[in-house]
Amino acid sequence: MTTQPATETGVPPYCAQPPQTQPALRADLSPNRAGAILLIRTKWVNGTILHYAFLDEGGDVGGTEQLDEVRRAFREWKDLGIGLEFEEVPDPADAEVRIAFRADEGSWSYVGRDVLLIGSQEPTMGYGWDLTSRYGKATARHEVAHTLGFGHEHQNPFAGIVWDEEKVYTELGGPPNNWPRQTTFHNILRKLSPDEVTGSHWNPDSIMQYGFPAGLILQPERYRNGIESPLSISALDKEHVLQWYPTLTAKPAKLQPFESAALQLSSGEQADFEIVPPETRKYELRTFGDSDVLLVLFEELDGELRYVTGEDDSGEDRNGHLETKLVKGHRYVARARLYSTWGSGGTAFMYW
Ligand SMILES: [Zn+2]
Repeated sequence: MTTQPATETGVPPYCAQPPQTQPALRADLSPNRAGAILLIRTKWVNGTILHYAFLDEGGDVGGTEQLDEVRRAFREWKDLGIGLEFEEVPDPADAEVRIAFRADEGSWSYVGRDVLLIGSQEPTMGYGWDLTSRYGKATARHEVAHTLGFGHEHQNPFAGIVWDEEKVYTELGGPPNNWPRQTTFHNILRKLSPDEVTGSHWNPDSIMQYGFPAGLILQPERYRNGIESPLSISALDKEHVLQWYPTLTAKPAKLQPFESAALQLSSGEQADFEIVPPETRKYELRTFGDSDVLLVLFEELDGELRYVTGEDDSGEDRNGHLETKLVKGHRYVARARLYSTWGSGGTAFMYW
């Protein structure tokens, strides 16, 4: 692996995540329950088809070769075997992920399901520099990983990084980033909660890690001379993405109306059910038991599972509940990802 040349003289251009909305969690939630919400809230249900659209043809960054690099980045994540799907669509109104190229806005992406909070004409991912260089290709893979729900690895609290903070502010305040102090704090100095990161180790080879020149990191001592910009998806990145989005092999279990299915899930795991309604009418879908669950319903249209409706009851003392009209003979798939359980620990799903 070669060192990003810019790190010998200064910092390269860095991804700048926009400020994120943190959930306002009730103070009486148990640490286990609150931690599961912080970790899982940004992740998609596995099997989701994420549609992406380009808002321009490369803007003032470059030509359509820029778009090709983003397409390759999506494909490279998909080729790891994950259960998410990516599909390019022409109309931004049909896309959860909207991509713009604007040189003066840098490179960035919202994290995971936070993209759903963004207005349907606004970008959720931006690129501010050429993506055809080795560093640019890594940038595209990094931003796609944000969209999959991953944060910055140098902000992993398990890294134990002690910064020369004023030096970091000064370095980032100059070119090529020209960041105000709050951007530097938000993207570099701020530590994530241990609950927000997958696993309990720092992965300095992660595609979500920035490279840094000498002098910005005081501890761990071996990184005083700097850290190289990771240029590819690491083995641990692959392990983590497959933990959240494992390859979908088994067909979902078919469920009849009023038939209750026990959800035997660990925190973060997902159960899928196939629903083929015997008649056309309004149905209710519900989870039971003391649990927080993300519940999403998809309908098969032209061979593709499209989002119908969903609900996230995390942090609330009720259960996941969907009420919607289902059409006789159509095929639906309900997917439930468990945050955590308490009380008896038992959880079930039923529709009727
Ligand atoms: Zn980033």
